Amino acid sequence: MRAMQLTAPGTPLVPAELPVPTAGAGEVLLEVHACGICRTDLHVARGELTKPKLPLVLGHEIVGRVVARGPGVDAALDGARVGVPWLGWTCGACGPCRGGRENLCERARFTGYQRDGGYAEYTVADARYCFPIPDGYAHAHAAPQLCAGLIGHRALRAAGDAARLGLYGFGAAAHLVAQVARHQGRRVFAFTRDGDAEGQAFAREVGAEWAGPSTQPPPEPLDAAILFAPAGSLVPAALRAVGPGGTVVCAGIHMSAIPSFAYELLWGERVLRSVANLTRDDGRDFLRLAAEIPLRVAVETMPLRDANEGLARLEAGRIRGAGVLLP
Ligand SMILES: [Zn+2]
Ligand SMILES: [Zn+2]
Repeated sequence: MRAMQLTAPGTPLVPAELPVPTAGAGEVLLEVHACGICRTDLHVARGELTKPKLPLVLGHEIVGRVVARGPGVDAALDGARVGVPWLGWTCGACGPCRGGRENLCERARFTGYQRDGGYAEYTVADARYCFPIPDGYAHAHAAPQLCAGLIGHRALRAAGDAARLGLYGFGAAAHLVAQVARHQGRRVFAFTRDGDAEGQAFAREVGAEWAGPSTQPPPEPLDAAILFAPAGSLVPAALRAVGPGGTVVCAGIHMSAIPSFAYELLWGERVLRSVANLTRDDGRDFLRLAAEIPLRVAVETMPLRDANEGLARLEAGRIRGAGVLLP
């Protein structure tokens, strides 16, 4: 099978011809229909997330069809269209797992990081961590929901019942979260890079009532803000944008250093927190919502062999919505 492989962090992915993997006990073999390009892939490829499996097939927004199953997997999955998220395996025995927080499992294994992912024609996944994909979404439109959607949704829940929501960094995750937030009756304010008129117009199209540069304050104080952009300098900016009692959620897995800031930015019971990974409950909740709303998913598709170009375009902020690879 063809795959794009990371052989060393900081180097481009290399086209490779690999044997089709075999589904072990509890696993399914998937023919990959589409795989989203997530910012986390960029952090792994560039070496900002350390200690990946090597060589590694990236990709954790996988939509595929079950073509084989290992021992112990329900036959009902034969031929099913399923999605594979970032959370690839958890131990079920550690404190966080037993406490209902498998997203923080001490021995978790992540797709496209410690397990091979979906930048390939086939992949194997633990059947217990696959989700059924709602009908009505094309493969490419379903793929970004598996991380941008799920983790965006977890971040939105962490923002509490905020009526006025700020979104910093308007890419794959924010364009989905904005639609969920509007569906819930919230007001959305979008922040983009300075001078990104196209990004601001895109944000308005998917429901933001205001869009402007992240260097500018919103027209009124916000109740919560979610940071999808990996820039630590946005943390004080977001704290400044929320009113007393407001929450700032950092949704990315990696961020540049946060500059020091005056305590008065946190004072007034403002809350600063992160969200890490996802639980399977997050996945089921979000996909139920996605089926109900339904979401307009903006994607730019490209062939698997263009994965390096896709990552570079994501890094440069030149993808509208989500980039998706089609094997
Ligand atoms: Zn665990
Ligand atoms: Zn991701």
